[in-house]
Amino acid sequence: MVRTRNTRQRQLIIAELRGTKSHPTAEWIYQRVKAKMPRISLGTVYRNLAVLKEQKLIQELPRVGSQSRYDGNPEPHYHFVCLNCGSVEDIETPFMEKLTGEVAKKLTEHDVQGYFAEFFGLCPQCNTK
Ligand SMILES: [Zn+2]
Ligand SMILES: [Zn+2]
Repeated sequence: MVRTRNTRQRQLIIAELRGTKSHPTAEWIYQRVKAKMPRISLGTVYRNLAVLKEQKLIQELPRVGSQSRYDGNPEPHYHFVCLNCGSVEDIETPFMEKLTGEVAKKLTEHDVQGYFAEFFGLCPQCNTK
């Protein structure tokens, strides 16, 4: 029975994450999941996020802002972070992905396990103020 409950928790968390493009915090996910599963705790949400990350079903964006943000898209891609409002957007850059892949390939004696790139500045809304 415990396993069934865990599976349902995880499915709800994934559904919330995949249903938004805002790259939310664990706290945000917790509030959404709690509306459907009132007895869930924030600690449980964190534990499930860690498991989902381990299974490579989601990504954690550790350096974006003060709190970890989560991404329902597990494929490598780039983000733009607004320094003013903290919004996080996906950036479509096939060229960059190819380039970083090439760099990783050149580092043949290194065990490259991933890469991290981040664009930051002001989002269009903040830029007009
Ligand atoms: Zn902004
Ligand atoms: Zn993303």
